[in-house]
Amino acid sequence: MALKFKPGVSIIGAKAELVLVLNVATGIFDEYGFDLVVTSLTDDDEDRVFNSRHKIGMAADLRRPDLWHPREWEERGYSVEDLGHALRKGLPGTSVLIESNHYHLQIEG
Ligand SMILES: [Zn+2]
Repeated sequence: MALKFKPGVSIIGAKAELVLVLNVATGIFDEYGFDLVVTSLTDDDEDRVFNSRHKIGMAADLRRPDLWHPREWEERGYSVEDLGHALRKGLPGTSVLIESNHYHLQIEG
């Protein structure tokens, strides 16, 4: 399993801490049997909250495999919370939010 990027994602300005977190997160996705697909890093998005950590290269959005591979996901008996919990447990200093179509990771501090 691999770390992949949605076409058009800007990586400019991503902090080293975020690269490290994404590396570990890729391993966590791998344990679940899915690629990690980054859908947004530092890209501008008008929906972002004003103090978004995306702008400073400290946040990433990850595609939710349950929505993209629903059959495989269901066959394995996972809930969307399972992977969210695994990410929270495995990523130091990082908060994880489950959004409507992605996991939002944000490095705190
Ligand atoms: Zn986000």
